[in-house]
Amino acid sequence: MNFVESAERQALREAVAELGRSYGHEYYLEKARGGGHTSELWDEAGRLGYLGVSVPEEYGGGGAGIGDLAAVCEEFCAAGTPMLLMVVSPAICATVLARFGTDEQKKHWLPGFASGQVRMSFAITEPDAGSNSHRITTTARRDNGGWVLNGRKVYISGVDEADAVLVVGRMEDARTGNLKPALFIVPTDTPGFEYREIAMDLVSADKQFGLFFDDVRLPADALVGSEDAAIAQLFAGLNPERIMGASFSLGIARYALGKGVGYAKERSVFGAPIGSHQGLAHPLAQVKIELELAKLMTQKAAALYDAGDDFGAGEAANMAKYAGAEVAIKAVDQAVQVHGGNGLASEYGLGTLIGAVRVGRIAPVSREMVLNFVAQHSLGLPKSY
Ligand SMILES: Cc1cc2nc3c(=O)[nH]c(=O)nc-3n(C[C@H](O)[C@H](O)[C@H](O)COP(=O)(O)OP(=O)(O)OC[C@H]3O[C@@H](n4cnc5c(N)ncnc54)[C@H](O)[C@@H]3O)c2cc1C
Repeated sequence: MNFVESAERQALREAVAELGRSYGHEYYLEKARGGGHTSELWDEAGRLGYLGVSVPEEYGGGGAGIGDLAAVCEEFCAAGTPMLLMVVSPAICATVLARFGTDEQKKHWLPGFASGQVRMSFAITEPDAGSNSHRITTTARRDNGGWVLNGRKVYISGVDEADAVLVVGRMEDARTGNLKPALFIVPTDTPGFEYREIAMDLVSADKQFGLFFDDVRLPADALVGSEDAAIAQLFAGLNPERIMGASFSLGIARYALGKGVGYAKERSVFGAPIGSHQGLAHPLAQVKIELELAKLMTQKAAALYDAGDDFGAGEAANMAKYAGAEVAIKAVDQAVQVHGGNGLASEYGLGTLIGAVRVGRIAPVSREMVLNFVAQHSLGLPKSY
């Protein structure tokens, strides 16, 4: 067991942090407030190989693990340039395709994931199913050797930036006639597919969308991998999603903590820096401790996943995602408090983070569903729902 990251990963972190800082939080906010995207940063990160760090080498990627991709995500967030699409496109979509795609799908999509030129959204959430993904009704029926897809999705991130959406739906089992899960790749320009932006009280460069599939005709090879592997495909995407969700939160927590500590050292009201008052110093110290704990759990989850232990990684990834989200909320809240009135002034760049970190308690899986998982699987308690 080693608690020190490899020299390569540390160097990767430094290089990514430098790139993120060269753009900075003001660049991010300008894009987010203006309805734009962080495309310049995404493209540069892609050219430098940071977005494709976990794509297999034979497809032009870095051949590293989810731990390295999580480090990239964390450093961009810590630099004040969070890219939500990183949680979805290179982590969930590229991983599912690399592990379960057909040879043709891998050849078609993975080089683009490696260079960052391909962006793919991931759509599972439906208005009537919510956290209960067993209830999704988006369904594909066979038609002339291809598929016809109908259904709806909500809160899908980054669709306006994406080339395609990896859609979790259902299809009829040819043997039993029962509906079973299936994943489809739907290019965003496919006729019958529409998306509409959902107005959100979030200041984010990555927007959320409602999706509408109205007799969307897809070729046979739109189905990911083999017909019977959808459950395994879904599970393969869950751990990376949670590990990336954790690293996204951790990076924002680091950014906020840095701001809070910096201000606590500089600002003086009663003749001494406000950070000398324990009422401010202790909550910052608590955030530091909880941040380090959450980071350790994220690294454990990534290490287990990269070692091929999907099952072991599941518990750690859920715990990491929970801990990351909670410490990010606490870090931003305390950084705002340390800043007094300035904490809510646009100039100080903290107020918009209140909503940003709140997302981590809801998505990609809610706090309560993580607690359900731990209660049932780690503690053996009865299922409550
Ligand atoms: C900014 C943002 C981006 C998102 N991006 C994506 C995306 O790219 N792709 C995608 O597919 N989805 C995305 N989502 C959707 C997200 O994954 C869901 O919002 C989340 O899983 C919760 O589902 P829901 O909103 O339907 O809430 P619901 O399932 O309706 O739950 C409402 C509340 O009830 C609680 N609850 C429900 N069931 C139980 C239970 N059994 N026990 C205890 N409590 C329970 C929940 O925890 C929650 O607090 C995004 C959401 C947001 C806000």
